[in-house]
Amino acid sequence: MTATTPTTEYSVEKIRSDFPILQQTVHGKPLIYLDNANTTQKPAAVLESLANFYSTSNSNIHRASHMLGERATQAYEGAREKVREFIHAASTQEVVFVRNATEGVNLVAQTWGRTHIGKGDEILVSAMEHHANIVPWQMLCQEKEAILRVIPVDDQGELVLDALDELLTPRTRLVGIVHMSNVLGTVNPVQHIIQRAHAYSIPVLVDAAQSAYHMPIDVQQMDCDFLVFSGHKLYGPTGIGVLYGKKALLQDMPPWQGGGDMILSVSFEKTVYNDLPYRFEAGTPHIAGAVGLGAAIDWLQKTGMSRIADYERTLMQYGTKLLAQVDGLRMIGVSPSKASVFSFTLEGVHPHDVGTMLDYEGIAIRTGQHCAHPLMQRFQVPATVRASLACYNTHQELDALAESLKSIRTMFA
Ligand SMILES: *Cc1c(COP(=O)(O)O)cnc(C)c1O
Repeated sequence: MTATTPTTEYSVEKIRSDFPILQQTVHGKPLIYLDNANTTQKPAAVLESLANFYSTSNSNIHRASHMLGERATQAYEGAREKVREFIHAASTQEVVFVRNATEGVNLVAQTWGRTHIGKGDEILVSAMEHHANIVPWQMLCQEKEAILRVIPVDDQGELVLDALDELLTPRTRLVGIVHMSNVLGTVNPVQHIIQRAHAYSIPVLVDAAQSAYHMPIDVQQMDCDFLVFSGHKLYGPTGIGVLYGKKALLQDMPPWQGGGDMILSVSFEKTVYNDLPYRFEAGTPHIAGAVGLGAAIDWLQKTGMSRIADYERTLMQYGTKLLAQVDGLRMIGVSPSKASVFSFTLEGVHPHDVGTMLDYEGIAIRTGQHCAHPLMQRFQVPATVRASLACYNTHQELDALAESLKSIRTMFA
């Protein structure tokens, strides 16, 4: 890895000073942003990269014969190389730019899925998937008369992997698994699941939308066949995401959307498709978005993914202790292998009321079902309150959250 090794101490104050949006008050209180699993805030370096791209290099890519076109192409392809290094892919041909994690899953379902899945075949997902890793497969199953099977989740919020051997059948064609749950925070043993699936030659798609900004990702070590994540959760812009796919699989997949940039030559008799990864990037992409994602990755590499993971672990442990002291709080998801997410209910108070009351205190959290209806059903809760962490959150912010929850609880009890 050529990533710069950070030499200085992890200073959350210094990190916070990189995020302009955090320097504001909400309802007269300092903003405490704990809705990071929904989207993260952007460091100045990312904002500047967007402004800089549009003020100095804006042009379309891959086809202009002028200086700006060359600069824009270099910036876009440079971002692809940064992504490759960030996830340790073997080649930039394996890095496809998409809009977000959701689009990445849909691309795989509509191309690889449509060619490899037929009547009676099975797709295996888990009960803790985000809708993005359920619905595209359901749509495919409906079209192909295939069957969606589900790895169950236990009361702690962990996958029941004893069930895996029975669930992997001769008809299983693909496993789709979330690396880290956006509701429970559980970090799944994806490498183990991938090994077991590969023992039956079944490819695995990993949803890394949550994990990518909390921990280092190495697709070669993981040995996943596909992996998706979104730029906006990785401190980057909205509208840009990544699909990683092993070259052998991508090469074998039919194109998805047709149009410019994904072709080598077009006549009305025959169209020759472009090489990887351009074959899957029809039309003008979100060039500035890719550039901004590259800047976010630079910022993360400079800060250090392992150090972010270590720091967030201390926050997580601290918050777990504090929230356990809040009367009537039920934590959903208590796996020892969990990161950066607190989902809970507060007895006698509707989650939406908790959300509104916290907002008055300047505390931004999310309430609801978190795009995971099946998981809510599993835990028999209509909704939860979710406070989720990022590298810029502090112990004091968690103190404030716990204090506010205590007073909300007293008010309603
Ligand atoms: C946010 C999220 C997604 C979807 O991400 P989009 O950016 O909305 O496409 C998928 N899976 C998980 C686990 C998520 O947290």
